Amino acid sequence: MEFVIIIAAVVLIAAFVAYVQRGQQKTNCPQCSSPQVRQLEQQLKEIRQDSGTIGYAVKLDVKLIMETSYRCQTCNHSWTVTAPER
Ligand SMILES: [Zn+2]
Repeated sequence: MEFVIIIAAVVLIAAFVAYVQRGQQKTNCPQCSSPQVRQLEQQLKEIRQDSGTIGYAVKLDVKLIMETSYRCQTCNHSWTVTAPER
């Protein structure tokens, strides 16, 4: 059972990484709308939550979110964008 969950999680992460790489787009500063934005850090977070026991099977929801930090090189404003897995 645990083995199946691990495989499912690996497949999910692989699909998510492919999705993020495909979906990357230009970001403008939300403060001065300058395109001179630098990506500082990208972090993949996995949130697991048990959504209850159904019979003998435990349904496990794995949610992945991508947190990306940016800094504007024009006005030095920094912010974080969270992109949830769809
Ligand atoms: Zn700016």
